[in-house]
Amino acid sequence: MNNRIHYTKPSITELEVRYATDAAANGWGEKCYDYIHRFENAFKAHLDVEYAIATSSCTGALHMGMAALGIGAGDEVILADTNWIATAAPIVHLGATPVFVDILSDTWCLDPELVEAAITPRTKAIIAVHIYGNLCDMDRLLEIGERHGIPVIEDAAEAIGSVYKGKRAGSMGKFGAFSFHGTKTITTGEGGIFVTNDAELHERVLTLSNHGRARGQTKQFWPDQIGFKYKMSNIQAAIGCGQMERIEELILRKREIFKYYLSYFSKNGNVKLNFEDGETCIGAWMPSIVFDENLNITREDLKRKFEEENIDGRVFFWPLTSLPFFATTSQNYNSHNIPKRAINLPSYHDITKSDQDRVANAILDLMEKA
Ligand SMILES: *Cc1c(COP(=O)(O)O)cnc(C)c1O
Repeated sequence: MNNRIHYTKPSITELEVRYATDAAANGWGEKCYDYIHRFENAFKAHLDVEYAIATSSCTGALHMGMAALGIGAGDEVILADTNWIATAAPIVHLGATPVFVDILSDTWCLDPELVEAAITPRTKAIIAVHIYGNLCDMDRLLEIGERHGIPVIEDAAEAIGSVYKGKRAGSMGKFGAFSFHGTKTITTGEGGIFVTNDAELHERVLTLSNHGRARGQTKQFWPDQIGFKYKMSNIQAAIGCGQMERIEELILRKREIFKYYLSYFSKNGNVKLNFEDGETCIGAWMPSIVFDENLNITREDLKRKFEEENIDGRVFFWPLTSLPFFATTSQNYNSHNIPKRAINLPSYHDITKSDQDRVANAILDLMEKA
């Protein structure tokens, strides 16, 4: 039997191990924040933003950011139906209501027209999720947000390395959130980061992130409000510092893997891979393939074929409105239809060309028989 082809795994070198070892041995006492601050500074420089707060997860960064915007009971937040649950859960935790709109068939991201149509007097934010590293139409979303006085938040968990008109994903909205979960382009095991250019918002999130203790509060153990505990540890940040020194290489490698898949399929009018045009350059976190309806290739066919070939392919995100607790009567056609004929392709940094060939040939084989 052929070796198993995994769909993601991190790229960890001697550098990350050395930093983590140093943090475990020496990163205590007055050094207990050194790697955290170094990691935050490296990420700020990479993204070209003013402020960053490392967190225990992207979910936590989103939760605190939305809390700091004052989102709460009775409010609505607009996001794409095609999404991981992590973007929606904090909205619910804050007592607000997620409003799911459909995606565009090419970028698989928010349809700006539907976003505008979904705005009500209760709308308090729009979350632009750059799904699979593809980019939302930020100019239009920001314009809509501005016209209605509604902040646009970027969930850039999947968009490390993605660039929209010269700006990095996560740096354009009111705030951005990233994930460093083990499956993402760079990792700290578990982890995330909150980023913004808004000094006041940064200060509010900083206070919230420290159990509600304001910077400058001189009284010890004195919270000024109820906050959160979503911190990244110094040891995790040490691994992150190693990853940040390699970030350009890690993004480049993701793009190489994507382009190699593209070389197999770009001339085939019946399939779509991640979207890129003259104004966008994607970080290609998760190369994915969507088959035209007329091919009659289903998610189940794909999963079966991949299983036969010992390839770990993952299904395209289920629409959140297919979950019983989010079910609505309105149908978002693309969000419900695209996942039925799509699959994520293995894309970890160390994947070999011959393993990519195996993945591509498994797909071509299915297409021949379709
Ligand atoms: C991975 C992911 C998250 C969650 O990240 P965590 O660090 O696991 O909280 C949020 N949003 C999107 C789009 C993701 O892919």
